[in-house]
Amino acid sequence: MSINPDATIMDEPTRAAQVDKPVSSHTAAASLSAAEKSTRLNSPTVIDIENVDFHYGANKALHGIHFPIREKLVTAFIGPSGCGKSTLLRCLNRMNDLIDGTRVSAGSIKISGVDIYHPSVDVIELRKRVGMVFQKSNPFPKSVYENVVYGLRLQGVNDKVRLDEAVERSLRGAALWEEVRDRLHTSALGLSGGQQQRLCIARAIAVEPEIILMDEPCSALDPIATVKVEELIHQLKQNYTIVIVTHNMQQAGRCSDITAFFYMGRLIEIDATEKIFTNPSQKQTEDYISGRFG
Ligand code: ADP
Repeated sequence: MSINPDATIMDEPTRAAQVDKPVSSHTAAASLSAAEKSTRLNSPTVIDIENVDFHYGANKALHGIHFPIREKLVTAFIGPSGCGKSTLLRCLNRMNDLIDGTRVSAGSIKISGVDIYHPSVDVIELRKRVGMVFQKSNPFPKSVYENVVYGLRLQGVNDKVRLDEAVERSLRGAALWEEVRDRLHTSALGLSGGQQQRLCIARAIAVEPEIILMDEPCSALDPIATVKVEELIHQLKQNYTIVIVTHNMQQAGRCSDITAFFYMGRLIEIDATEKIFTNPSQKQTEDYISGRFG
């Protein structure tokens, strides 16, 4: 299934008829030809979100969410506070299971074709494949080294050579190695806020996930640290599928390939980021990105 460039509030037959329209443009790939861009933006689907409704108790927070998330692209979720961005993000690795009274009340979410809400799914295994980075960096009160290997130790890995290799690979992957290589065994809490957030990214990639979910990863960072994390996101998509929630539209414009705009628990529009920010199909999207509400 190709991404639906006109995905909006529409009935299922209309949506089904439109799902094979290719996406035509992309901000971060400005130097690519139109054909190359289209091919890249229609990379294989990794996550199929199919007609998902979600409830917090009696309160329905997501309504009929339906779109694919594609491999090795950055997909940004934007929209005003309370529109369901984080709720949907947390559905993708079942983090909402930790909140009492919540349920996916309709539809399904499939990763590589497997329904992640099926009773046979091992949630720990799922969260290994679908890592998460939170708004506020949350390093453990341990050394830099122990933070990175935390997930591996939980998996029972204790071989020093393997752990050392994972630490260097993950810290390099998180663009932090050069800054911390001489202080691996000092407390992670001594790092700057931006370094701590990159450490959390290193911790997420140490267990070699396929997908990384980021919930406003830069909202607590200063502009310089934000640039570093955005550059890192750009590099990480070589190897990972990334989904990022951001309330910062410039950030969505800078670092995502695809942008999904939500309003009041509904997907209003999803398209190539360049299209969303220059020529959105829906008036609500245009009103939001031009600052008329939200
Ligand atoms: P966003 O990330 O777009 O700001 P959220 O996903 O946090 O939006 O919230 C979507 C809706 O779900 C809101 O109405 C919010 O009040 C509700 N909600 C979010 N988290 C909880 C929770 N833990 N318990 C009950 N309702 C929640």
